[in-house]
Amino acid sequence: MHTFKLMMVCLLILSCESKQTIVADPPNILFIMSDDHANAAVSIYGSNLIETPNIDRIGKEGAVFTNSFVTNSICAPSRAVLLTGKYSHLNGLRDNLDTFDGSQVTFPKLLRAEGYYTAMIGKWHLKSEPTGFDHYEVLIGQGPYYNPPMVRNGDTIEHIGYTSDIITDLTLDALENRDTSKPFCVLYHHKAPHRNWMPSPEHFGMYADQDLPVPATFFDDYRTRSRAAPEQDMRIDDMFLSSDLKLQPGYYDEETGTGGAGSSSFDAAANWEREYNRLTPDQKAAWDAHYQKVNEDFKAANFTGRELSEWKYQRYIKDYLRCVKSVDDNIGRVLDYLDEHGLTDNTIVVYTSDQGFYLGEHGWYDKRFMYEESLKMPLVMRYPNKIEPGQTRDEIVLNLDFAPTLLDYAGVAIPHDFQGKSLSQLVGENPAEDWRQSMYYHYYEYPHGWHSVKRHEGVRTDRFKLIHYYNDIDAWELYDLQEDPDEVNNRIDDPKMEGKIVELKQELAKLKEVLQVPDSELAR
Ligand code: CA
Repeated sequence: MHTFKLMMVCLLILSCESKQTIVADPPNILFIMSDDHANAAVSIYGSNLIETPNIDRIGKEGAVFTNSFVTNSICAPSRAVLLTGKYSHLNGLRDNLDTFDGSQVTFPKLLRAEGYYTAMIGKWHLKSEPTGFDHYEVLIGQGPYYNPPMVRNGDTIEHIGYTSDIITDLTLDALENRDTSKPFCVLYHHKAPHRNWMPSPEHFGMYADQDLPVPATFFDDYRTRSRAAPEQDMRIDDMFLSSDLKLQPGYYDEETGTGGAGSSSFDAAANWEREYNRLTPDQKAAWDAHYQKVNEDFKAANFTGRELSEWKYQRYIKDYLRCVKSVDDNIGRVLDYLDEHGLTDNTIVVYTSDQGFYLGEHGWYDKRFMYEESLKMPLVMRYPNKIEPGQTRDEIVLNLDFAPTLLDYAGVAIPHDFQGKSLSQLVGENPAEDWRQSMYYHYYEYPHGWHSVKRHEGVRTDRFKLIHYYNDIDAWELYDLQEDPDEVNNRIDDPKMEGKIVELKQELAKLKEVLQVPDSELAR
């Protein structure tokens, strides 16, 4: 190669790839992720629904990020972004129907190559076998709430108990049995509070005598929005009476819910019967002792209209929050373990979710849309040796940033094609002033898959959001998040916003170029 060219290539590499640095005492990493946990159900974010003292503790003793966003709001794609540090169009996993290519570079592989003990415990959901771990034990697919079979390093293992407790027991086992001559990176991933929200008997009694506030937009009529909003299939009103709301046969006349299945061949009642019959006799007795009365009260009340909608909301939100409570309780057990073993100061603890979720806003459950409730994720990060406690950061951060952050703290070079940025730049002594000012979003799972949310991409800045729906629709939405935090007033046809729309369309085009989004993505 010509010397000049070689020099240019070297300069390019140096400018793009962070250098390997020697970290005197490489930190341990405990990366905690739950599934579908909305910020509105975390007390450090001001929840009016629940207290989550253990998640809050991580934030109070470290940093709380208030604008942490997912790049593609659905389970498997979010997990692929976490591992690879790349957008869906580059890591190849665009929706839940795709299979993860486990041969690609991931941050656990890079840590392991540099001497870390790596383990993955809990929900994996990427179809292919986990790669890059010294030890793994993962749920099969979504996994059930009770008595989960799991795959441990290739072998199926049966467990009896509540899944959130079991995943935690297995995480503590992995910590206890690790090679202590190495720093560890343990991914501790809960299934909860994913649908169908079956709580632990410990928390059946929560909210027994109390109803929870119904969100202001619960009866949203979707006026001003494109037809993407009314044409979804994720309304709480349309939940399955059986598998979602857990009414046993005999307590309702017929299944009226569509459940977002997109196909009438999905038998929700049979699905619920299967889930219920997974319970042991003791678990069934505890379940029935609580839920039979709820079901009887429902049958006797004979609700219709608005009252029926509100009953469904209460049934849903209470079970969802009870599941969150078990996640929080169990996180407390793991934080205690770190304390008891002198590991707290030199361990990075991250808590996040694979994306946000609707807790009745717009009348919905589920995620997928680029609206705030599903775009935003909880993110708290503690690392006493390096992160001053009590920080709150409002910059735009992404799930794309997790991989580079962890590599950076470990002193491991960040590959030049990773697309995120290290959060250490925000929570260190001199917070970066040139942080990103906007983010790119892209959702793909349509028309196949669940919930009929149309394909869309968009850009969000600190104040504005522009969304473009495509495929069987070509429509735009614009929101001013400062004036309209609930995103009910689409301003795309407002003449006053013309300049802003031009500016945001330019920003969207610029982001797509930088992030290497091919034009063909919109033709998919
Ligand atoms: Ca999820």
